[in-house]
Amino acid sequence: MAYKSVNPYNGNVLKTVDDITDEQLEAAVGRAAKTYEENWRLKDISYRGSVLKRAAAILRERLDEFARPITLEMGKLWAESQDEVRLSADILEYYADHGQEFLAPKTINVQEGEAVVESEPIGIIFGVEPWNFPYYQLARVVGPSFILGNVMMVKHASNVPQCAEAFEKLFREAGAPAGVYTNLFATKDQVARLISDPRIKAVALTGSEGAGSVVASQAGKNLKKSTMELGGSDAFIVLEDADLNRAVSWAVWGRIHNTGQSCVASKRFIVVDKVADEFLKRFKASLQLLKPGDPMNRETTLGPLSSEGALRDLLKQVEIAVSNGAKLVLGGKRLDRPGAFIEAGILTDVKPSNPAYYQEFFGPVALFFRVKDESEAITLANDSPFGLGGSVFTQDVERGKRVARKIGTGMVFINQATWTAPELPFGGIKNSGYGRELSELGLQEFVNKKLIRVSEALPGGEFPVA
Ligand code: NAP
Repeated sequence: MAYKSVNPYNGNVLKTVDDITDEQLEAAVGRAAKTYEENWRLKDISYRGSVLKRAAAILRERLDEFARPITLEMGKLWAESQDEVRLSADILEYYADHGQEFLAPKTINVQEGEAVVESEPIGIIFGVEPWNFPYYQLARVVGPSFILGNVMMVKHASNVPQCAEAFEKLFREAGAPAGVYTNLFATKDQVARLISDPRIKAVALTGSEGAGSVVASQAGKNLKKSTMELGGSDAFIVLEDADLNRAVSWAVWGRIHNTGQSCVASKRFIVVDKVADEFLKRFKASLQLLKPGDPMNRETTLGPLSSEGALRDLLKQVEIAVSNGAKLVLGGKRLDRPGAFIEAGILTDVKPSNPAYYQEFFGPVALFFRVKDESEAITLANDSPFGLGGSVFTQDVERGKRVARKIGTGMVFINQATWTAPELPFGGIKNSGYGRELSELGLQEFVNKKLIRVSEALPGGEFPVA
């Protein structure tokens, strides 16, 4: 039984869930396929929009009810869980409000007759999703799928079954017919079989490189389109003309938000020599102000990691980094208290020969690098297998934009840590994956762009006609 809800604050087992049986899985896929054909794709877009709007309204009306399982299952600070519920509602509403405009037919100028490209749904989209933002990650795929007329089946992460169930119930309450959103407590074998099922038309995965590589190859083998939203090791570049107050404040947020367990968390702090000592001193002092404790308590500013396993993995990474020459100049140790807690930490002197140099640290441990100048900062930022987000701090915004254009990632933020909003495209390059979620781009991933051509004046071919 893989699906288990365990509170990382105290280790209490909250719920265990049985895997879905093969018979139940077959029935669920059959229902989703039937609903798609008979009760969803041909409905008016305003009907599907009304389901999304109702779901958004329910999330906002019952904010705490939805926020609670996030904090209990994966340890997110209470205020951040509430923010996540609000953001998820905003995403669903965004697609309800803008779907029609984004999906409007596009007329092509042709020499004769007419040509138009229309947007049609393609069927069942299968999502494989992570625990770190247990609703937001789902909203990112559900909003565009539903407004277009696709239906969703989702395998959520095994440690957030209560969030997984809550999201499925949300859409039934919002009036979606059964089969429009289906949560699957599926095993990895069942995931593989599902991807090969002809009724599944595409796969969207958010998660690690390892999972991405397995699932993308299964999708590829079955000739199905996929999007991969994978890990990152975002550079946080501080140039000598940066506003240091702002840079330090965003550095703390960038590394600590969601207890550092975000794909777009700031992970590599690359600071120009002239301001490096001052930045490091203040970054360190600010991280020392964090208050570990119960994530349900509003006074807490450092919650537990999502699980004991996640904590062990991060501690091991720190140990390997240090044994390969890095210096732990702050924290990075298990806190002497129950729960999956680690002190916020900073590693310096991480050289390219150290395995840590190219790794993602999924928790509140920062890698700090001192560089000579802007050019060295860009070179270091790009020396990564990942290409998700990044940030540049400078008071010269035009300079910031020039630097941004030289950074090999899908997103760069100037004077802010990488973050998200419904209208901003989200995604990466290199080992951070491919495809985009959110914004209009997220809606154009799993669409049949159908050309309809009308020709009256053009003669037929040169073959004789009987
Ligand atoms: P993970 O282990 O890859 O899990 C993500 C999802 O994939 C879970 O549902 C997991 O199921 C499933 N999965 C794992 N291996 C699989 C396999 N062989 N076959 C089928 N499904 C499989 O990721 P994580 O460690 O929980 O999440 C953190 C990672 O996600 C980080 O690297 C982070 O940067 C990345 N992330 C990326 C984005 C983005 O938008 N780019 C956003 C958030 C997170 P189980 O739980 O049952 O193993």
